Amino acid sequence: MTVQDLIVVGAGPSGSSTSIFASRLGMDVLILEKERKGRDKFCGGGIAYGAERFMVEKIGKEVSDTIELRIGGVVVFSPSGRELILKFSEELRKFGGLVRRSVFDSKLMEIAESEGAKLIEGKEVVGVRIDGDKVVAKARQGEEFTARYLVVATGSGDQLGEQLGIQPLGSKGTGGCWGTEVKFDVRSLMEGWKERWGIVPIFLFFGPVPSGYAWIFPKKEHLNLGIGTNLKNFKEHEKRFSSFLRKAKEMGVIPTDDIKHDRAATIPFGEVPRSKTFSSEGRAVLVGDAAGFVHPVTGEGIYGAIHGSFIAAEVLKKALDEEDPSLLKEYEERWWKEFGKDMFGYGKRIAKMLYGSSFMMEMGVKVVMCDEEASRRLGLLLAHYDEEVSRKMYERISGLSLMGLAIKSIRAPKRAEHLVSP
Ligand SMILES: Cc1cc2nc3c(=O)[nH]c(=O)nc-3n(C[C@H](O)[C@H](O)[C@H](O)COP(=O)(O)OP(=O)(O)OC[C@H]3O[C@@H](n4cnc5c(N)ncnc54)[C@H](O)[C@@H]3O)c2cc1C
Repeated sequence: MTVQDLIVVGAGPSGSSTSIFASRLGMDVLILEKERKGRDKFCGGGIAYGAERFMVEKIGKEVSDTIELRIGGVVVFSPSGRELILKFSEELRKFGGLVRRSVFDSKLMEIAESEGAKLIEGKEVVGVRIDGDKVVAKARQGEEFTARYLVVATGSGDQLGEQLGIQPLGSKGTGGCWGTEVKFDVRSLMEGWKERWGIVPIFLFFGPVPSGYAWIFPKKEHLNLGIGTNLKNFKEHEKRFSSFLRKAKEMGVIPTDDIKHDRAATIPFGEVPRSKTFSSEGRAVLVGDAAGFVHPVTGEGIYGAIHGSFIAAEVLKKALDEEDPSLLKEYEERWWKEFGKDMFGYGKRIAKMLYGSSFMMEMGVKVVMCDEEASRRLGLLLAHYDEEVSRKMYERISGLSLMGLAIKSIRAPKRAEHLVSP
């Protein structure tokens, strides 16, 4: 029987990047992925500035080859149709853009393989258990794979963590997205956007859904459109998706509202990460969506997937070398310190304020429109510029007095444009 150092279940961004980092640290890695290379995953494919910069630094420049469109900023629509235009400075245009997940995920898998990880495709893991000082993963076809440690990188619907005693995220911690990625003549659309907004942006719409937002992300030859909210709104998603399209057409973003949604996915777009993200007894860590590493304001998960995986690989290597699974607790300590407090401490507070009601979304956009510094900080949060973006945004908006807020919101224009630079 071969005993690997590490079995990684799932080859999305978190599983592949953990495998890259762990292989580079000298571990024997086996990746078990239920789908095949080239599979798509329903996702906006927005790679924030900070996410690409982190990947270039820690994985390599070739990751940038997967970016098919660079963007010049973000246009945010309030529920009543106000427009906030955030134009990225030259520095903020150096990284970040849009990928197609089929391409991006395949690239990370290829890099993992080139670093020595072994990938078995079409292998769904249905059970995991401990056997002495090893962990055993059982595939649907019946074979068993054994390793010293396990990484659960199975995405937001994870069911394996629970078998190792880790509470699932549950419906409170989970959101739902509906939408599509359709072939489109994006080139001519972009001409119109540049005329109207001066840039090729991504578009965020507040109002079409409660506790979330709708988006339009352009790719080279595709448009990615969707709505993301909590699972409670499941029954109304058809109606909400249609009203979002009507609004997008009315605002001049798309020429037609005759677009069907054909994709749905869950996302850990709740208020908190998973209650526990490791198990020393289970010799396992959870990464990416399985760990709940999605920003509660933006829904951005690729940054958390990659940064968390970087930490996971280092901690697993230490636990392996020192033959001490109790060291896995350092994983949770480290991710909380490096990005968790910003994401789930301050990010959660902003999300609570912003997504409280349609009135709060309108008020939030109005206040930011009238405050250049708040606009700058929102732009940096959307770009995930550094590990303090949520704190800086929270401190700006919570520092404004109620009277100040009322005055600012009365003065809010129909349209405001701000340059965002670090
Ligand atoms: C609609 C939508 C839009 C989004 N837009 C953005 C965005 O624009 N930018 C951003 O940063 N984030 C976005 N996110 C979040 C982002 O998609 C996730 O955070 C990211 O995919 C997490 O990566 P992951 O590797 O943890 O999980 P996944 O990407 O879900 O990968 C999990 C992998 O595990 C495999 N798997 C699952 N179960 C098993 C099993 N039992 N055995 C073997 N293999 C298994 C799956 O096939 C899959 O390949 C979006 C999410 C959604 C749903």
